[in-house]
Amino acid sequence: MALDKDCLFCKIINGDIPSAKVYEDEFVYAFKDIEPIAPVHYLFVPKTHICCAKKIDAENSQYAAKIFEAIAKVAADEGIESYRVINNCGEDAGQSVMHLHFHMLAGTKMGWGKQSLG
Ligand code: AMP
Ligand code: ZN
Repeated sequence: MALDKDCLFCKIINGDIPSAKVYEDEFVYAFKDIEPIAPVHYLFVPKTHICCAKKIDAENSQYAAKIFEAIAKVAADEGIESYRVINNCGEDAGQSVMHLHFHMLAGTKMGWGKQSLG
């Protein structure tokens, strides 16, 4: 597990910055988004510093797989039948924290289509 001392989410994983934890295992940490845009809004992050989806490769892709396993587990544990998973990669897509993360959104009926791209 290689953390970056200057990275916000690495600091959260390390416990240096508080967070509302919803799940943790060897590979994955998940916590409530501080500015939720849905009734359920969790962030799932790898417990190693990967800047973004562009840097997922054969060496580290197990973290991405483990994140999707964790999302399915949390959904099952919390009785969440329907949810959306979002990864923003890069500036135009709206990535604001440069540590790979997947938003899990649920608890409301969600729209879909071009207008949702803002
Ligand atoms: P993105 O815009 O895809 O990079 O998502 C970053 C997310 O991190 C945003 O939804 C923020 O609300 C969230 N966020 C930023 N700082 C914190 C924090 N300290 N604790 C929890 N969520 C945070
Ligand atoms: Zn990091």
